[in-house]
Amino acid sequence: MKIIRAEEMGMCFGVRDALQIADQVNDPTQVTIHGELVHNPRVIHQLDVAGFVQSSETGRDADPETPVVLITAHGVSNRERERLNSIGKQVIDTTCPLVRRAHDAAMQLAAEGRHVLLIGKPGHVEVQGIVEDLGSYDVVADIKMVKQYESKLLGIVCQTTMPSCLLAEIREEITARNNEADIKFVDTVCHPTKRRQAAMLDLVKRVDAVVVVGGRNSNNTRRLADLCHQHGVPALHVTCADELTDQWFAGFEVIGLTAGTSTLDSTIQAVEDRLERLASSDMVAKNSGYPSMPSVGQGVQAECSES
Ligand code: SF4
Repeated sequence: MKIIRAEEMGMCFGVRDALQIADQVNDPTQVTIHGELVHNPRVIHQLDVAGFVQSSETGRDADPETPVVLITAHGVSNRERERLNSIGKQVIDTTCPLVRRAHDAAMQLAAEGRHVLLIGKPGHVEVQGIVEDLGSYDVVADIKMVKQYESKLLGIVCQTTMPSCLLAEIREEITARNNEADIKFVDTVCHPTKRRQAAMLDLVKRVDAVVVVGGRNSNNTRRLADLCHQHGVPALHVTCADELTDQWFAGFEVIGLTAGTSTLDSTIQAVEDRLERLASSDMVAKNSGYPSMPSVGQGVQAECSES
């Protein structure tokens, strides 16, 4: 069995910068992280051990008890930032500049009097942060959600981690169903996401199956796994090396490896090392036929020894 790494994968600069800022905090016990700093259980555990207080993503409405609040790379609305300031919290802001760009684009479209269509996952923290500052908007996750909108002035932006092909389909449907509207589109998918998706499209042409490493609630990790399936290539979504089972690889000759933007380099390396060991063992070669494979998001829910 041969293993091929995607040309681009793993942690993006936005997540690295956020982690670096958290690392420089002198007294973590005085800081509440406003939601998950990154969608990565190992990192969440490390932050917990360091002493940070962490709000759940659905529990961010409550007033933080610590004097300092750290906003994650996913960002928050201006309204939420003002609320934190008004209750006397000192804010450490690690919002990724490319998330901020999506906010600004949505606000600009709204200022032009457009009804904003945000193409993204309803309820995702990044999406919430953007729409909370808008008066008139719809969140559109797929073409089934597209409709004819009342406004004849529409503005489209997207969650930074949207797959380009899905985005194109949804835009086409919006145009088809609103052919009398003036529609302005701002492409706010971030460059790291685009590069990882392009690398994935290249990878699926060269492999029999792909291992995608990342948190279960990491949107961009799930999107990478979805992309494999859309191209007819089986994908195994794992959060760490312990979740790899040799049976899954029986019958495959070439395995691709990629990872979401919140995956640590050390986790990717551990998965690759494990794959190399499987490849060099007799186990995979001796098995014949294809076993039943876990689908995306249904990988083994093992406790990872790395965490
Ligand atoms: S995925 Fe893109 S927008 Fe999100 S933190 Fe990384 S670089 Fe920034």
